[in-house]
Amino acid sequence: MPTPKVVIVGAGHAGAQAAVALRQRGFDGAITLVGDEPDLPYERPPLSKEYLSGAKSFERILLRPPTFWADKAIDPALSTRIVAVDPAAHRVTTATGGTLGYDTLIWATGGAPRRLSCDGHDLAGVHGVRTRADVDRLMAELPATTRVVVIGGGYIGLEAAAVLTKLGKQVTVLEALPRVLARVAGASLSRFYEAEHRARGVDVRLETQVACVLGAGGRVTGVRIATGEVVPADLVIVGIGIVPAVAPLLAAGAAGGNGVAVDPLCRTSLPDVYAIGDAALHANPFAGGAQIRVESVQNANDQAATVARALTGTEEPYHAVPWFWSNQYDLKLQTVGLSTGHDHAVMRGDPSTRSFSLIYLKHGRVIALDCVNATRDYVQGRALVLRGATIAPELLADTAVPLKEMMDDTPSPPE
Ligand code: FAD
Repeated sequence: MPTPKVVIVGAGHAGAQAAVALRQRGFDGAITLVGDEPDLPYERPPLSKEYLSGAKSFERILLRPPTFWADKAIDPALSTRIVAVDPAAHRVTTATGGTLGYDTLIWATGGAPRRLSCDGHDLAGVHGVRTRADVDRLMAELPATTRVVVIGGGYIGLEAAAVLTKLGKQVTVLEALPRVLARVAGASLSRFYEAEHRARGVDVRLETQVACVLGAGGRVTGVRIATGEVVPADLVIVGIGIVPAVAPLLAAGAAGGNGVAVDPLCRTSLPDVYAIGDAALHANPFAGGAQIRVESVQNANDQAATVARALTGTEEPYHAVPWFWSNQYDLKLQTVGLSTGHDHAVMRGDPSTRSFSLIYLKHGRVIALDCVNATRDYVQGRALVLRGATIAPELLADTAVPLKEMMDDTPSPPE
C-alpha cells in the first residue's frame, strides 16, 4: 500500500499539534505542515504578553526546538500559502501555482485580524497583533512612541495596553461597547479590569466609536472618535477580533460561513478534509451545543488530538472542557468553561483583595468560572463545569468552603 499522505494547512497551534499528535499515536505516513509565515510553529499568546514586553525571546516561544520536526519526519513547508483546494482531485494549490496532493487534509489556518474599515486604517503605525511579524513591526516603532491608542477592549487589546503601560507609554483604550471584555466575561469582571487599567493610568473609554484614523505624511497621528474629538497617537493597535481564514475551503464547497463547519470528529463536509482550531465552527457541548468557534490554545490542541485519534482508528467526539488564561499586570486570569448565555453570576471573594472568582450559572448549573489570582478555584471549579453542578449561589460565594467540597449533591450532568 502507498504511504498515506497528510497535508496540514496552517503551522500554528492547531496544525503543529495535529502533526505532533499523529506521530505520538504512531502514524507513519507522510506529514507536510504548510504555513504562510516564515517561522517554525511558535506560541501565539506571548505575542501580547512576554514577547511584546521583551521578557521572552522568539526562541523561547517556539513550540518545539527547530530540530524536532526533522526528527519526527514532519516536513514544514514555510512561507507557503494555500489558495485553492480541489476536493475531487485531493489536491491543494499554493500562491505560486504549485500543487500538493493529499489523502487527508487538515485545515488549521486560524484567522486574520479584523481590520478597521474607516479612513486611515492602512496608515503606517496602525498594527494588528496576530503574528510574530506584526509584533516585530510594532516593537520596532516603540522607541519613537509616546502615545498609544488601542482599539478594542478584548483580551488582546487589554494585554497589550498592560504591557505598553508598564513600558511607560501613555495608553488609551477605545471600546465601542459599554464595557471591556463584553463578549467573553460577566459585567463584574469587566468593571474590575476597567478599574485596574485606570488605576495604572490607562484612559479607558467605553461606548466610544472610532470615526477614522488620522495621519500626516502617511503615518498615524491620532484617532478621531464619533464625538469629533481627536485622541492623539503615535501608534495604534487594532484588537477587534479575527476573520477566520477559510475562503479557499468555502470556495471548494465546504459548508460554513463564519468558519468551516465541522462535526464532532472535526470532519468538514468535504471528503477527507478536517478543520481544527480558531477556524473550525463546531457544536460545542459546553455552549449547549451552539455552533461556535473557540479561539484558544486549548481548543486548538484538543481538536488536533481529536483528528489525530480519528486518523489512527479511534473516533472520539470532541468533548473537551474549554479553558483560557490572560495575564495583565500582576493579575493572572484563568477561565474554565464558557460563560456566554449565563443567567446568573456569583462573586466568590472580594475583588478589592485582587483575588476572587466569578462563577457563572445557567438554569442553576455552573457553566464557567473566571478566576483572578485564584488558581485553587480554577482547578477545583473545572469539575463543577464538567458536571454542570447545581449548587446554591450562597454556598458558591462562601470562600470558607473549597469548591471541591461542593460536589456531593450534584445530580447527573445535562444531556
Ligand atoms: P493560528 O495559531 O493562528 O495558526 C494558523 C496559521 O495558519 C497561521 O500561521 C496562519 O498564518 C496560517 N495560515 C492561514 N491561512 C493560511 C493559508 N491559506 N495557507 C497557509 N497558511 C495559512 N489563547 C489562549 O488560550 N490563551 C491566551 O492567553 C491567548 N492569547 C493570545 C494572544 C494573541 C496576541 C493572539 C493572537 C492569540 C491568543 N490566543 C490565546 C489565541 C490562540 O493563540 C489561538 O486560539 C490559537 O493560536 C489558534 O490556533 P490555530 O492553529 O487555529 O491558529
